[in-house]
Amino acid sequence: MITSWGNIFRSNSCHPVNAEMDHLEEVFHSGPNRDAQSVLPYGMGRSYGDSCLLSGGTIIKSRLLDKLESFDRDQGLIVCQSGVNLEELLDVIVEAGWFLPVTPGTKFVTVGGAIANDVHGKNHHKRGTFGCHVKWFELLRSDGETMICSADQNQELFAATVGGLGLTGFITKVALQLIPIKSARIDAEYLKMENLEEFFEISEASDKDYEYTVAWIDCMAAGKQLGRGIYMRGNHAADGNLTVQVPRSLLSIPFDAPEWLLNEYSIKAFNQLYYHKQFSKLVRSTTYYHPFFYPLDAINEWNRLYGRSGFFQYQFVIPQTEKEALRSIFEKIQASGMGSFLAVLKLFGEPESPGMLSFPQPGYTLALDFGNRGEKTRALFTELDQIIVDKGGRIYPAKDACMSSDTFRKGFPNYIEFAKHIDPKFSSDFWRRVNS
Ligand SMILES: Cc1cc2nc3c(=O)[nH]c(=O)nc-3n(C[C@H](O)[C@H](O)[C@H](O)COP(=O)(O)OP(=O)(O)OC[C@H]3O[C@@H](n4cnc5c(N)ncnc54)[C@H](O)[C@@H]3O)c2cc1C
Repeated sequence: MITSWGNIFRSNSCHPVNAEMDHLEEVFHSGPNRDAQSVLPYGMGRSYGDSCLLSGGTIIKSRLLDKLESFDRDQGLIVCQSGVNLEELLDVIVEAGWFLPVTPGTKFVTVGGAIANDVHGKNHHKRGTFGCHVKWFELLRSDGETMICSADQNQELFAATVGGLGLTGFITKVALQLIPIKSARIDAEYLKMENLEEFFEISEASDKDYEYTVAWIDCMAAGKQLGRGIYMRGNHAADGNLTVQVPRSLLSIPFDAPEWLLNEYSIKAFNQLYYHKQFSKLVRSTTYYHPFFYPLDAINEWNRLYGRSGFFQYQFVIPQTEKEALRSIFEKIQASGMGSFLAVLKLFGEPESPGMLSFPQPGYTLALDFGNRGEKTRALFTELDQIIVDKGGRIYPAKDACMSSDTFRKGFPNYIEFAKHIDPKFSSDFWRRVNS
């Protein structure tokens, strides 16, 4: 069975195969794919919705393509196969004084998956997206042609594949430019924010001096406290200590939690506790990079906390001028009583995203989880989608499980140009949904 991270879609009807460099081409045209069946690459399934799923087709799992091919320790250029994940890269690069130029909130993401969603991190305002740092990649098309794509070579296919949701071919190999660091630790600051106004002020003042900025928001708080939370910002430390500390043993969620566990009251209680655990306005600490970037990775399969019905993650971006619209979105989420404890707000910066379908654009991006309450949750998203696209924003496909064709097309007007580069053998449940 193949699932995505939200555990809403469970696909038995697809045919999973493991990619191996020697017979990758055969996969496109043998077995159940001899005829018209479609294929889709799959990394670690850390996308939340249906962008990494393909009902009735063949899912090509990339994790066996796990070789590091070269690492230039002077220049910080690493070449690896596409199934290598970010944890495996960090294990090699940090001690050598290099770091990922961009990292999402989990290290259990393959390099191929990071390109296909053109992922962003807490430093978007400084470094843009993952794709901005890809020197080149090798793409295998279903007709057997292998192409090297970069900003200078096969540029259009490069722009279609970065953020291209796995639809333009199979990425086999990637060259990534890393950033230099002097320490494996982060000098971090945590600021308690009273409300959304304070978030606007702090984020606008912080982005110039801090490499990493993001805020946790208590989306259950209302009235004058709407948008309260903890603002986190940090820079790589300069203490010369590049020793990598192995994180303490992982906790595990061994089974799907009962549905009642996460309800309006338990989430409210968690948010209260989390907000009040910091007494002073500002706390400073120097922390190993792992807890700063990947707090959720410490709990194995934490997605099972949402029970068998699974959950949605909803992430959008809206222009910076639309503060009132953002406030009204928070009000609707608060009034619905459905938002959860994982709500993250950030100001994306100016760096241009290299992909035709890349999600980031300048403005506020909010990501939060919602337990799956069926029609009730979907109806809330439809209402929010409308505000977001009307204000010139868009929804993140890597997280999405619901947006309509109209919402997708308004958010990603380049989709027509993009569609010209889709490999005819490739498809996904997401692509079928937003084109139906
Ligand atoms: C806890 C958590 C935190 C997250 N935080 C962030 C964040 O801060 N920022 C952010 O941007 N995202 C974030 N994400 C989302 C995640 O980074 C993306 O969904 C990522 O693309 C998942 O990578 P994957 O290897 O699991 O790929 P999958 O989810 O398996 O696939 C993702 C897409 O990549 C394609 N693909 C995979 N391998 C290849 C290949 N070899 N060739 C071509 N296409 C390929 C697939 O077809 C699919 O379309 C987070 C997810 C989780 C679970």
